[in-house]
Amino acid sequence: MKRRDALRSLTLAGGASLLAAKNSLAETLAPNPAYTQAVKGTGPVKIKDIKTIMTAPDRIRLVVVKVETTEPGLVGWGCATFTQRALVVETAIEKYLKPFLIGRNVDEIEDIWQSSYMSSYWRNGPVLFNAMSGVDIALWDIKGKRAGMPVYQLLGGKVRKGADCYFHASGKDFVELEERARAAMERGFRHVRIQAGVEGLATYGTAGPNRGTGAAPTVDTNEAVGPTNPKAIWESAKYARQVPKMFEQMRKKLGDDIELLHDVHERVTLQQGIQICKDVEQFRPFFIEDPFPPEENDHFRLLRGQCNTPIAMGELFNTQHEYLPLIKDRLIDFIRIHISQIGGLSPARKVAALSEYFGVRTAWHGPGDASPLAHAAQLAIELSSYNFGVHEGSGFPQNTQEVFKGCPEVKDGYMLAQEKPGLGIEVDEKLAAKFPFPDGPPNFDYSWGTTRRKDGTVIRP
Ligand code: MG
Repeated sequence: MKRRDALRSLTLAGGASLLAAKNSLAETLAPNPAYTQAVKGTGPVKIKDIKTIMTAPDRIRLVVVKVETTEPGLVGWGCATFTQRALVVETAIEKYLKPFLIGRNVDEIEDIWQSSYMSSYWRNGPVLFNAMSGVDIALWDIKGKRAGMPVYQLLGGKVRKGADCYFHASGKDFVELEERARAAMERGFRHVRIQAGVEGLATYGTAGPNRGTGAAPTVDTNEAVGPTNPKAIWESAKYARQVPKMFEQMRKKLGDDIELLHDVHERVTLQQGIQICKDVEQFRPFFIEDPFPPEENDHFRLLRGQCNTPIAMGELFNTQHEYLPLIKDRLIDFIRIHISQIGGLSPARKVAALSEYFGVRTAWHGPGDASPLAHAAQLAIELSSYNFGVHEGSGFPQNTQEVFKGCPEVKDGYMLAQEKPGLGIEVDEKLAAKFPFPDGPPNFDYSWGTTRRKDGTVIRP
């Protein structure tokens, strides 16, 4: 073939393939019955109804979402718990998300997340994200049930047999703290968070007279708490001096093998936070949590250059604008996002995958206000992510286990999957109704925004 002929035949072939591409694109975009089959089952399964269940089986206000489908008996359960503003989340689900999502195909989890995200025009925030999380986690539960597989299988399958958990040990003083840490170690926990009361101060995360909330009033109880009438008092200098002593004592008494964690809970200055991390470095903490508040994310850069103490951060984060810089610049070692706070399992699995490439491990926020459904969703990610760090939690109290049938079991310090399709939890709605939210007013956890310095200045948080 001459060169000119060859060029012409190439041009013709190119033109023909372009034409074919146009046709096939039109065909591809047309409704395709094979898609239904590819998705599985006999027909598309749609969202029929969305219900919000408010329950407090162990006096912690939990928000649960039930997604009902057009397939009889097929439902999904998700966690939408923003315990401090639970009633607002209920409104966001019932009045806004539910009418937006009824009729949608349950298999389109990512698109449902993205379109729900856009649906309020103004995006983000704990109320809207928790509402979205309830639906998102429920849809993953449904997808697992449709596939006949636990959710961790859909995320790539197991890379470990169970998730190592950390126990909260707290004491009014070092003696009580040691006793509680030992009891946890005897139960098989290899990780223990240690918090000790600071005498005369309302200390975060501790029991007894020096606990963080409900400290005895120091002034007139008839007057509202405010700058001129502080109630629970906190001063950080004495605490900052005590933390290294606590680590020294616990390392000496409990031995080298136990992993020790501690939550500063943001309640210190920049200098105190750095000093604590430097002072405890020699006692090899597993991590120090939240030395600074999210409003002061840049502090982590100043801390990082000065010591080798592993840092955990992130339970208050909402969006990628907050956590992305800390992850990509390797300023933290553990990301601690509250997964319902960022919109559910879908965004959380992206955070886990992203973090893997920067050497950041996961330690999702998991106290009692993350319902068993949130823990089960975390566990699905933890079992299938290479960069898992540690799971916050030590099991579920009795009433909670009865309402949330099929809670993941904690055995020998490991949280284990239920090995059932979906998340493995079914909520007993009748029993849930027997545990209404504790009476207000105000109908929320009154722990935050009330602790103040001696001079009356409110502290974070
Ligand atoms: Mg914390």
